[in-house]
Amino acid sequence: KYMTASEIRNAYLQFFQSKGHTIVPSSPVVPEDDPTLLFTNAGMNQFKNCYLGIEKREYTRATTSQKCIRAGGKHNDLDNVGYTARHHTFFEMLGNFSFGDYFKQDAIPWAWEFLTKVLELPEDRLWVTVYVDDDEAYDIWNKEIGIPAERIVRIGDNKGGKYMSDNFWMMGDTGPCGPCSEIFFDRGPSVQGGPPGSKDEDGDRYLEIWNLVFTQFNRDASGKMNRLPHPNIDTGMGLERIASVIQNVPTNYDIDLFRNLMAAAKAAVEKAGATDVEPGTPSLKVIADHIRACSFAIADGVLPGNEGRAYVLRRICRRAIRHGYKLGARAPFFYTLVEPLAREMGDVYPELNKPNIAQVIKAEEERFFLTLANGMEILEDAIAKTTNGVLDGNVVFKLHDTFGFPADLTADVCREKGIKVDTDAFDRSMEEQRAKARAAGKFKIAAGLVYNGPTNEFRGYQELRTEGCRVLAIYKDGT
Ligand code: ATP
Ligand code: MG
Ligand code: MG
Ligand code: MG
Repeated sequence: KYMTASEIRNAYLQFFQSKGHTIVPSSPVVPEDDPTLLFTNAGMNQFKNCYLGIEKREYTRATTSQKCIRAGGKHNDLDNVGYTARHHTFFEMLGNFSFGDYFKQDAIPWAWEFLTKVLELPEDRLWVTVYVDDDEAYDIWNKEIGIPAERIVRIGDNKGGKYMSDNFWMMGDTGPCGPCSEIFFDRGPSVQGGPPGSKDEDGDRYLEIWNLVFTQFNRDASGKMNRLPHPNIDTGMGLERIASVIQNVPTNYDIDLFRNLMAAAKAAVEKAGATDVEPGTPSLKVIADHIRACSFAIADGVLPGNEGRAYVLRRICRRAIRHGYKLGARAPFFYTLVEPLAREMGDVYPELNKPNIAQVIKAEEERFFLTLANGMEILEDAIAKTTNGVLDGNVVFKLHDTFGFPADLTADVCREKGIKVDTDAFDRSMEEQRAKARAAGKFKIAAGLVYNGPTNEFRGYQELRTEGCRVLAIYKDGT
């Protein structure tokens, strides 16, 4: 059944309202009072203290459509945008939450009811995963709902980063977390990719649409998992992804919410000098994605700068501008997309109508445009001179330092050309600069976004075991 993104959003909130949930507005993309987070990365963020038992509210069940940005920290999808069909920097996450109220026994059947009865998705196209030894969740899916064993996959932690699936969800290195159960939609054999947990799962055939997290622990700074006072539920479903399924389109960028924005992006770069831009080309996706992240971040009070989230905003902005340049734009164009975005989403998110959003982006664009052409020339020259397919890290540093090319932007250009970056040399230069300047935070974030690998690795527990309805964390020291 065809539904617009807006209709899906409303249907979701109403469905969970009918199950006793209070509809709570989205919190800002800048988390309030949470220094552990750069940007809001999930619906549960605003309820963190309800999970921790620190805060009591009038309700124990809530449902939201939450503005999220995943462009830094533990959940960082910046490098995915334009390359996968399903990742955005900014997206809306639909969620239902229980604070010590209902648990798996209700959360799983309600998710199923919403997908198959309200959205009318065909049951045989849905796959589910459960945490490796969560027999309780397995049995609910298998015995109560009736999903055959062939479409239920048990998945543990992510096998040393070998596979992307990871059925233990954490908002960051600390905070509420727990084992989870995810729902995937099979787009059919015409799309590449294997089922969840298989070696070729990183395709688009089996699309992860919904994550049901059984929030039972608080991970502290030392990595220890402390049991929460009561078990909770936290779910998250990407609105753009479920819309792509419902609307039967190949990527998130083809849904109703993005169609006009993609067209506006094409028109904007062409007005700025690009010619014959192919509709749906990856750079247009990057631009259409990034205008949302930049506009929502500015609307919630972030300004481009050199540290923390201000620097993340600057990087997203400059990356979009560079993609416009790549298509042939030779004048500021990015800021003109604020208006079409507000036309698309301003009724649901009136903060998009703030007049300063376009002004801030325009100023950033004018500033960056002055050096973009020079920087690109130096970069392309350096790339042409590489003999071993690796770009000298000192060039990366110089571009960063002198031309305002954040390292991940250089990495983005290099990736397009199949060139690797000498990250060690870049690291050393940054380290030297850090010794000079006091900007420790700036360094951390710049480095974290280029190398978001091992530092994010989760080593707090060895495995989780279920014992009845309890989940036990077994640490490496055997406790
Ligand atoms: P993926 O494996 O595809 O990166 P995830 O496992 O990181 O997704 P979760 O943290 O489980 O995602 O978030 C819950 C849901 O939010 C996902 O099932 C998906 O529908 C949606 N989602 C997550 N990341 C993005 C993103 N970058 N853009 C759009 N939707 C997203
Ligand atoms: Mg992800
Ligand atoms: Mg996933
Ligand atoms: Mg997930």
